[in-house]
Amino acid sequence: MKQYRDDDTIAAISSGMTEAGIGIVRVSGPEALKIAEKTVRIGGKPASDLQANTVHVGLLMQGDTVLDQAVVLTMRAPKSYTGEDVVELQCHGGPYLLRRVLQTVLDAGARLAMPGEFTRRAFLNGRMDLSQAEAVMDLIGSHSEYERASAMDQLSGSFSSRINDLRSRILYETAFLEAAVDDPEHISTEGYAERLAAVVKEIRAQIADMIQAAENARVFKAGIRTVILGSPNVGKSSILNLLLGSERAIVTEIPGTTRDVLEEAVRVGDLTLLLADTAGIRRSEDTVERIGIELAEKKAEAADLILYVIDAAQPASQQELMQAAKWVKNKKAILLLNKTDLPQAADVGAIREITGLEPLSFSARTGEGRKELYDKILTIFSDMLPASGEYEAAANLRHLEELRTADKSLALVEEAIAAGMPEDLFTIDLMDAYTALSRIVGDAASEALVDEIFSKFCMGK
Ligand code: GDP
Repeated sequence: MKQYRDDDTIAAISSGMTEAGIGIVRVSGPEALKIAEKTVRIGGKPASDLQANTVHVGLLMQGDTVLDQAVVLTMRAPKSYTGEDVVELQCHGGPYLLRRVLQTVLDAGARLAMPGEFTRRAFLNGRMDLSQAEAVMDLIGSHSEYERASAMDQLSGSFSSRINDLRSRILYETAFLEAAVDDPEHISTEGYAERLAAVVKEIRAQIADMIQAAENARVFKAGIRTVILGSPNVGKSSILNLLLGSERAIVTEIPGTTRDVLEEAVRVGDLTLLLADTAGIRRSEDTVERIGIELAEKKAEAADLILYVIDAAQPASQQELMQAAKWVKNKKAILLLNKTDLPQAADVGAIREITGLEPLSFSARTGEGRKELYDKILTIFSDMLPASGEYEAAANLRHLEELRTADKSLALVEEAIAAGMPEDLFTIDLMDAYTALSRIVGDAASEALVDEIFSKFCMGK
């Protein structure tokens, strides 16, 4: 059973809980203005009949105690964030003060808002669809220009409109089929199957594009999963330390001492590298080290980028180079020829020939090659950026699942067409695809799903 009602008047601290110039307690719901009147004194008198869409300066009162001065903003339904009457009490921003102000508002009849409840109401009142509501969360949580710009694009509704475009095309075909079934005398389905096949193919291609874009987006959002590989003692930990700018990993003279896979984030331009440090990959009798190696290989298989390190000061064995070649073959990879501050013993010609890559001169000791490495990473991943150079909204994990579901249903339609099934059988799968896409924007979204999405918000949003 739900513990709250959607027509309660809700309140929460909507600004951050750190000391700041301004802090905001937001109140939303049918009683918002009344509650504000009970808590604000303007011009020495209790506020009465606060008008919507006005700004007032007053004192926040708890009984006879003046809590703070405040600017009071009022907004009338439906032209507010939530679509309800909204009052924002903007006082000074201090955690203790804000809690007192919030308590006063609760005492005056508001209920504490659930996490994400303001935005949930915006969704329920049609101010935004579900994917736009998710974008609010992404925008607030953004840490880079990519995250900000793509969340903003999603908030503007461009992602929803792409989805809605696909929905309307599917709906059009379904409506046509149903009409044809109802009125076979006037609506002919001759040649229709081929036409539908072409439409479905086109929609599936667009879905495939969106899935690919989401995969690219993961790299920009979560970061480029990067694994540093190479034989023991080539300098993997030292390189990790250099890139992280700290002494995070333990650097040793003894081969095979880095056993756990550490992962840390480092910024490269607008990208994030998620750097995993791994034990040297080599044959080992030492169980603990072997676990490290297995972890390293597993990490490397799932990685977006491999930095394969070769020691410039040692003659690289044929076997080591074969190993390097194996790892860099099917991956985005950069070959680092480390320790170039020492006299060179490695045969660069052989390295080039066997691995098929041009090694990048590097020194974890002097920092040589670091800038070149970053430039190379940016070049490698820049082709994942949208051709327009603009960051666009991309499907999140929930959307991806629905896109895949829709695609499966559309594949069934294609199969049915290919098998020459009667037209009226296509509609079920078409409607399944339609429903999956509808759930992305929140039409046909179950209450449980809506609850789950908004529960990920934090207080005051
Ligand atoms: P890992 O086993 O591949 O992680 O290698 P480490 O990072 O532990 O380094 C092994 C040894 O090589 C340590 O003594 C490091 O100080 C040394 N080392 C690493 N990188 C360089 C470098 O660029 N130049 C020099 N001269 N020594 C390095």
